[in-house]
Amino acid sequence: MKFLDPNKPIATCISETCDYCTVCKTLHCHFTLRDLIFFLLIVSPSFLLGGAGIYHISGWSIIPWLILIIGYFGFVEIRVMCSHCPHYADKGSSLKCWANYGSPKIWKYRPGPMTFWEKAIFFVGFALVWGYPLFFLISDFQLFLLIVYILTVAGFFMTLRTFLCSQCINFACPLNTVKNEVRRDFFERNPEVAKAWTIDIKH
Ligand code: SF4
Ligand code: SF4
Repeated sequence: MKFLDPNKPIATCISETCDYCTVCKTLHCHFTLRDLIFFLLIVSPSFLLGGAGIYHISGWSIIPWLILIIGYFGFVEIRVMCSHCPHYADKGSSLKCWANYGSPKIWKYRPGPMTFWEKAIFFVGFALVWGYPLFFLISDFQLFLLIVYILTVAGFFMTLRTFLCSQCINFACPLNTVKNEVRRDFFERNPEVAKAWTIDIKH
């Protein structure tokens, strides 16, 4: 699997080298297979349990869910959220990061904040993807599976926010929790991104 060269600054960064950069102590400008595996490990329990709940009623009903998941994480979320991410500006026709690895980059890069409607679509997509299995779990009274499913979804989002969203270079994402001083350090090295946020960085 391919990832960006960890020794080379990302496309939006004006630094010559990542050596001695304090930003990388907090932010993830580069991604590794370990990051991807960590993400897959935290997200997969909710998908496996949700899929089991749907399958218990009808195996065919998994197909619309899979189409929803692929359509959302492969195209819609990429347009409304990832197209604002500095990583999106990097070379290549697909994403090489910890989440959405391999999703095609068919949209143009849009540095700067997400619009109200982009945020709305982003959250509606999440609600549909993780809400679809709920319909089957509730209507079939699969109470034990329902409780465990809800716990895995909650556990996923809590882990995501704590360990990934706190280090993510996409400040446009509504889930991003990077502190302002760290954002400022990143903006200093990525002036085009700063400009899109209408932040004037003086050198
Ligand atoms: S801000 Fe630039 S120099 Fe610093 S780690 Fe990220 S890509 Fe490398
Ligand atoms: S927002 Fe996250 S998933 Fe999307 S391109 Fe950036 S790092 Fe990857």
